[in-house]
Amino acid sequence: ALVTRFAPSPTGALNIGGLYATLISESLAHQSDGVFFLRIEDTDKKREVKGSIENIIQSLLFFGIHCDEGPQLSGIDKGAYGPYKQSSRIQIYKVFMKHLVQNGLAYPCFCDTDDLQKIRINQQNLKVTTGYYGRWAKHRDISYQEAKEEISNGKPFVIRLKSPGSSDRRITYHDLVKGPIDLPENEQDIVIMKTDGLPTYHFAHAIDDYLMGTTHVIRGDEWLSSVPIHIQLFEILGFPIPKYGHIAPIMKQVGATKRKFSKRKDLDGTAEYYKEQGYPGMAISEYFMNLINSDFEEWRMTNPDKSFRDFYIHTDKMNASGALLDMKKLGDTSKDVIARLTAKEVFDHLYNWSKEYDSALYTLMDKNKDYTINILNIGRTNRKPRKDYSKWSDVLPMIAFFYDELFEMDILSGYKLPTNVSLDVAKEIILGFSRTYRFHNEKDAWFHGIKELAGELGFAKDMKQYKANPNKYKGHVGDVAMVIRVALTNRTNTPDLFDIMKVMGEKRVLLRMKAFFS
Ligand code: GLU
Repeated sequence: ALVTRFAPSPTGALNIGGLYATLISESLAHQSDGVFFLRIEDTDKKREVKGSIENIIQSLLFFGIHCDEGPQLSGIDKGAYGPYKQSSRIQIYKVFMKHLVQNGLAYPCFCDTDDLQKIRINQQNLKVTTGYYGRWAKHRDISYQEAKEEISNGKPFVIRLKSPGSSDRRITYHDLVKGPIDLPENEQDIVIMKTDGLPTYHFAHAIDDYLMGTTHVIRGDEWLSSVPIHIQLFEILGFPIPKYGHIAPIMKQVGATKRKFSKRKDLDGTAEYYKEQGYPGMAISEYFMNLINSDFEEWRMTNPDKSFRDFYIHTDKMNASGALLDMKKLGDTSKDVIARLTAKEVFDHLYNWSKEYDSALYTLMDKNKDYTINILNIGRTNRKPRKDYSKWSDVLPMIAFFYDELFEMDILSGYKLPTNVSLDVAKEIILGFSRTYRFHNEKDAWFHGIKELAGELGFAKDMKQYKANPNKYKGHVGDVAMVIRVALTNRTNTPDLFDIMKVMGEKRVLLRMKAFFS
């Protein structure tokens, strides 16, 4: 069983890169009957953005990601390895810190910025080019006693790791995603505790990944260059080293080029954007599955009824370079996901979405619950998937004509009749239709009535008849149906006309026919 985690810093909303990595981590844990947990890495208080912890937790829930352990919204920890917020674990880090200092593996460094500048210049003069100066800090070999004295004198300090590494030597490890990796050892005396007494990310995450039993770390490849530091830390602390998988960032297509999502500029780089647009969370997750393992698509075809959760992901089949977010493909995946839902499920999703993002739609649905479910059910019967919307914000424009208030507003600007039918002929059709119309539950009988009407009004009853002798007729039965469609919906492109009438009901159909004449 694998133990994986998502360890975001609360510096803003969840972005799609984080979501992508999290989906991989969670799947790896759960497909092995392991544990996936959330840890908030909030030791850099300056960079913290208010509300981001909540945002991250809510987003994970929305995308169907289940955290077995982690900080709960109420602030109470769930799981036996907490607290899951680093700011609540400071005492734990101090214990390890002290242990390292006592054993000469780390040391307090009292250099201020001036001192460091001097060291840097000196280093340049000595032509030391390794770039980092921490190693030459003058307190590297300070005794424990001396250190204690300096500290009690109130001198500010950081704690540095006494790196045994050398950039002449290499570390190698097998990355779960990128394969064999070979990097120079870390030789820098990195800071592990800042002057404010808080641990740095490197230090805190190593302690936590050990104490929380993390076996596999899946994260963005911006952390790849930190692996030598992390491996060294784990070794010095005597902890087993977790397995690492580093993921290339998701790419955005802009014109003919691909580039990374920009944190500042690209709204569509945040997970929230997709929620706001009205993509079902599971549609995004399902699309990401596609990006994670390209054989997902084939699996989906042979398992149309299964949850994407049942797909088994393989890290060695992942693309080592950045996957491209293809909006068209995402939309198609989302259509398929929505097509598998029942009308009631679509209603519930749409209702919840509109509550947050479209108050007019919300009111409308609230007033017309059963009617709306029937509308959403059109084309959905016999589990025949309906594929016309990929996100909730697409729905209202497609169904607006069903609602009397919106329809009445729409026809104020006139009916959009097809060009081959004059208004007079249209009126004739609607008059004839109104006279003979009665509610039908049987499509055949209903269509028979329309054909009869077509014949009476001088239209061909079918295409064959029409094509054989076009000059003999005013048009064909399709034209008649089109006029009825326009009178009912003021649109020329709608779902099945019979289905629409069935949902609208006799009374509404007749009222709309009447409205055509006023
Ligand atoms: N807190 C780090 C971040 O925000 C976590 C990196 C890691 O997963 O080790 O990306």
